[in-house]
Amino acid sequence: MPGKNLSREEARQRADILEVDGYRVHLDVTSAPDPAAATFRSSTTIRFRCSRPGSATFVDLLAPAVRSVRLNGRALDPAEVFDGARVALDDLAAENVLEVEADCAYSRTGEGLHRFTDPADGETYLYTHYEPADARRVFADFEQPDLKAPFTFSVTAPAAWDVWSNAVHERIGDEGAARTWEFAPTRPISTYLTAVVAGPYHVERDHYSRELPDGSTLEIPLSALCRKSLARYFDADEILGVTKQGLEYFHDEFDYPYPFGKYDQAFVPEYNIGAMENPGCVTFREEFIFRSKVTEAAYEGRANVILHEMAHMWFGDLVTMRWWDDLWLKESFADFMGSYALLGAKTRFHSAWITFANQRKAWAYRQDQFPTTHPITADIRDLEDAKLNFDGITYAKGASVLKQLVAYVGRDAFFEGARRYFKRHAYGNTVLGDLLGALEETSGRDLTAWAGAWLQTAGVNALTPQLTVDAEGRITELVVLQDGAAGDTASAPGGLRPHRVAVGCYERDSDGALVRTDRIELDVTGARTVVPELAGRPRPALVLVNDDDLTYCKIRFDSESLETLRTGLGDIADGLARALAWSAVWNLTRDALMPARDYVALVLRFAGQESNIGVLQSLHQQAKGAVDLYADPQWRAEGGRLLAEGALRELRAAEPGGDHQLAWARFLAQTANGSEHLRLVRGLLAGTARIDGLAVDQELRWSFWLALAAAGEATEQELAAELAADNTASGRRQHTQCLAARPTAEAKAAAWSAVLDSDELPNALVEAQIAGFGQAGQRELTAPYAQRYFELLERVWAERTIEIAMRIVGGFFPRLQITPQTLAAADDWLTGHPEAAPALRRLVLECRDDLARALRAQACDGA
Ligand SMILES: [Zn+2]
Repeated sequence: MPGKNLSREEARQRADILEVDGYRVHLDVTSAPDPAAATFRSSTTIRFRCSRPGSATFVDLLAPAVRSVRLNGRALDPAEVFDGARVALDDLAAENVLEVEADCAYSRTGEGLHRFTDPADGETYLYTHYEPADARRVFADFEQPDLKAPFTFSVTAPAAWDVWSNAVHERIGDEGAARTWEFAPTRPISTYLTAVVAGPYHVERDHYSRELPDGSTLEIPLSALCRKSLARYFDADEILGVTKQGLEYFHDEFDYPYPFGKYDQAFVPEYNIGAMENPGCVTFREEFIFRSKVTEAAYEGRANVILHEMAHMWFGDLVTMRWWDDLWLKESFADFMGSYALLGAKTRFHSAWITFANQRKAWAYRQDQFPTTHPITADIRDLEDAKLNFDGITYAKGASVLKQLVAYVGRDAFFEGARRYFKRHAYGNTVLGDLLGALEETSGRDLTAWAGAWLQTAGVNALTPQLTVDAEGRITELVVLQDGAAGDTASAPGGLRPHRVAVGCYERDSDGALVRTDRIELDVTGARTVVPELAGRPRPALVLVNDDDLTYCKIRFDSESLETLRTGLGDIADGLARALAWSAVWNLTRDALMPARDYVALVLRFAGQESNIGVLQSLHQQAKGAVDLYADPQWRAEGGRLLAEGALRELRAAEPGGDHQLAWARFLAQTANGSEHLRLVRGLLAGTARIDGLAVDQELRWSFWLALAAAGEATEQELAAELAADNTASGRRQHTQCLAARPTAEAKAAAWSAVLDSDELPNALVEAQIAGFGQAGQRELTAPYAQRYFELLERVWAERTIEIAMRIVGGFFPRLQITPQTLAAADDWLTGHPEAAPALRRLVLECRDDLARALRAQACDGA
């Protein structure tokens, strides 16, 4: 397979014959502040051995130009050996030295070495992001996780800058206008984990120390960085506080001293993902620095990510998957640990498992019902497959299943297994069996059947209680029915799995609250499992299968329990049980088993009582989705009006200055459509209207401007004035989104063209244009683009980087044109393009499946 898309087979062949002793990489980024400079100099020396002298191989490099290539002192002609993605090497010796000099490109897509100029002060900032395979945009390398090596970086940068990398710097040279930073060699790490951050970043420092069992003291210097113009918003104390709690906790649990020396955390602009676990130099999206008031859910989410990345220092960085098939080995573990450690590390966030049940699992359930779903251990043929697999299965389903594994083997066996795994495979690479082997040793259990059913088969089961009741209202039999998941395999025959579950029975107490009166824990195995303990008991008001969220399944209800929820969901006293009930009724709506208007009615009736702020924010998002996508089109306008009225009612009722008030204000901005609501929004912006305790700060101002822009009630001059008052990276993004959201054919054409007719836009503005383009109230305006979308898919996939192509393919899919015609157009494209890249087909299939689901839900709502 030629070109950029390295295959698993090629990687295996290369690992069979090569061993890498070390890299020296020098980058000269002194040109970075000059916007006219498109490239930087990259010099790489790789020392590596070959077990089959005389054979040929290649190094990976995505660079506009290669100046020179020398293999063992022999000059190779770049014109002959470099094809734009690889440098061919032949006649390898037993011991080799490869030297490559190249001009590499500054990135505007967040892949490779990203360059950002701050509109607030004109300063330039650089950072790298590589996973899964973009280190080759910055230096020549063997781009696969199992060819680990020590890296020695040096960077020449403008004299006023600081530079960070995985290791500490040993020396800073002074060349007048530039300085060269020389870093210590790293421990052996994978190419995708290397990192460089450079620029006039603002830095906050701290340190963590700990006595080790051998009597020595472990000292870890800590730092946290952000752009200078964000420094006044930077709550580094809170970030470093969680960092120290996490280091304390992971040292207690893992019994393996943090292996990478220091721990820097850089909050960087225009970052494509949440964060990346580069050893010693973690990068985060800078939206984790809050410019305006945010809710406690945002602080919890950030702390979760800090702990997730920290868990990777051991699981992922110290011990790394051999190839991307086992990406779950690190991501499921880190995703699980992000929540587990929020509680274990004694942070101030106590709702971790509610958030997990309500939000992370919703991601997994959605992904696991696509036709493209896959087992947790995936079959990753190449890098394009790998790129798409950072998904709800690899992260959230995998974490759900690990949560269950902890319950299955016990907490002590689980952590003892992890400790053995770190020690046994430190600085090495592993596959599934290595982890399972360690866990089998410590638990004494055979995990073959468990792994077969949970890691190697796809799909989600639904569990439904079925009750028979006698004339006195007593249960004669309570059965848990299991629906088969998609896959029918030897380890999950008929798609049925073993589930450890708790069945909860709930009754009204004297205050009217729904409280648990019984809890039976049992194993659900086949299609039908009797719960004998509950026979003879009076029929409860509500039966909740998977109470306490032990297993991974869709929760269904018997008809009486569903009736109890309709009249009293918000009365469930326990926060986790209530979150599970909310999640279950959302799944019923998505599955066309509950009309969208009934779901909306539940939200309007009970969301005002929801105390958990993260759950409330999910309800807002889902209620809006229910109206925009799942409601009968005849009822859609009415549903939208009800949401806006509900938002205003709850906004006025919410505690002044509290998180709930802010969440309802944002929801009002998302739903405002009638003149009364838009007038209020305008009044809040102008300061002529007030809601007691509500601070209309910069981020909320932009939400309100977006509402006005989408309704055609904000002029270009007004939006320009807001940008002038907030001339920042964030302001620029939101201004772009507002312009694209305006309800005119010209605005739509401009957004479409800005994204598709040039590749000048950086990733963040591509995202803003796409988000502004697709407004639910503007279906007629965007309808003409549906056919054009299918015509340009292959060109986009061929011409754009995969990150940008994924955003365009997913973002411009005509998801609001919910008609059989759109479905037919998607099917025509899929039928007519069997040879299109599998990753592209996967994205289109998933969008197509969402559309088919919306049509089913609309039919249910209109019935
Ligand atoms: Zn991760």
